[in-house]
Amino acid sequence: MRKKVIAANWKMYKTPDEARDFFFHFMPLVKDHARDEIVVCPTYLALDVAVQATKGTHVAVGAQNMNWQSEGAFTGEICARMLVSVSVTHVIIGHSERRQYFGETDDTVNLKLKAALEAGLIPIVCVGEVLEEREAGLTGDVLRRQCLRAFNKVSAKKAAHMVVAYEPVWAIGTGKTATPEIAADAHAIIRSEVEQSFGEEFANHLRILYGGSVKPDNAHALMSAEGIDGALVGGASLDPKSFAAIVKY
Ligand code: PEP
Repeated sequence: MRKKVIAANWKMYKTPDEARDFFFHFMPLVKDHARDEIVVCPTYLALDVAVQATKGTHVAVGAQNMNWQSEGAFTGEICARMLVSVSVTHVIIGHSERRQYFGETDDTVNLKLKAALEAGLIPIVCVGEVLEEREAGLTGDVLRRQCLRAFNKVSAKKAAHMVVAYEPVWAIGTGKTATPEIAADAHAIIRSEVEQSFGEEFANHLRILYGGSVKPDNAHALMSAEGIDGALVGGASLDPKSFAAIVKY
C-alpha cells in the first residue's frame, strides 16, 4: 500500500505574511490527518515561514525549483544545499511552467534530479504532455521520453524516495481535469517506464501524483483511481480550507 502524497504548488503567489496566515488557518484543519503525506511548496521567500509554521508536525516543505550547480556565479539562482540548510525536504523539478516559460529541458531536469538526490532532497519530478501531443496520439511517447531522459544515469538506490507527478499540461490551471481513466492510463505508462529504468520493486513503491485542476469536488474520484498515489495541486492549494478538503478527499 503506497501512502499518498498531497502536495501544494503555490507558484508565484503569497508573500511571507500571507503564507503565515495560510498556515495559521491550515494547520488546525489537518492536525490529526496522518493518512497521507502533506507537502507545501511556497516561493523561496516564504520557505522559512513555512518551515517555522510546520516545525514538529507531519507537514513537509518543498521548493518549486532549484539549480543543479553546487554554487557559483549564477545570478538569481538557488542550489540544493541552500534548500537543505533551511530545512526544506522536497523540491519540484521540471514543472511544465518551468519548461514552457524558463527554458527547462529534459536534460536540465536530469541534472536537477541528480543534484537534488545528491543533497538528500525528495524530488517531485513533473512530466506531462501538451494538448497538441495528446491530440496527435503522442502522450505515451512524450511520457516515455521525459522519463527516460529525466532518469538517465540516476541510481535507483539514491532515487528511492523520489516522487513523480503526471501533469497533463492542458489540465494545469485551465479548469480541465483529466478523467480518472485518462490519468490512470498515463500513470501506468509512467510506472512501466520507471520499471524499465529502475526495476519492478522500485516501480511498485514509487508514488505517482496527478496534477491538473485538482479541486475539492474531483479529488476523491481522482485519488481513488488505479495507480494514482496523490496530487500536486496549484490553484486550489492557495486557500487553506480548499487545500485541507483535498487532503482529506
Ligand atoms: C500545478 O501547478 O502543478 C497545477 C496542477 O496547477 P492547477 O492545480 O492550478 O491546475
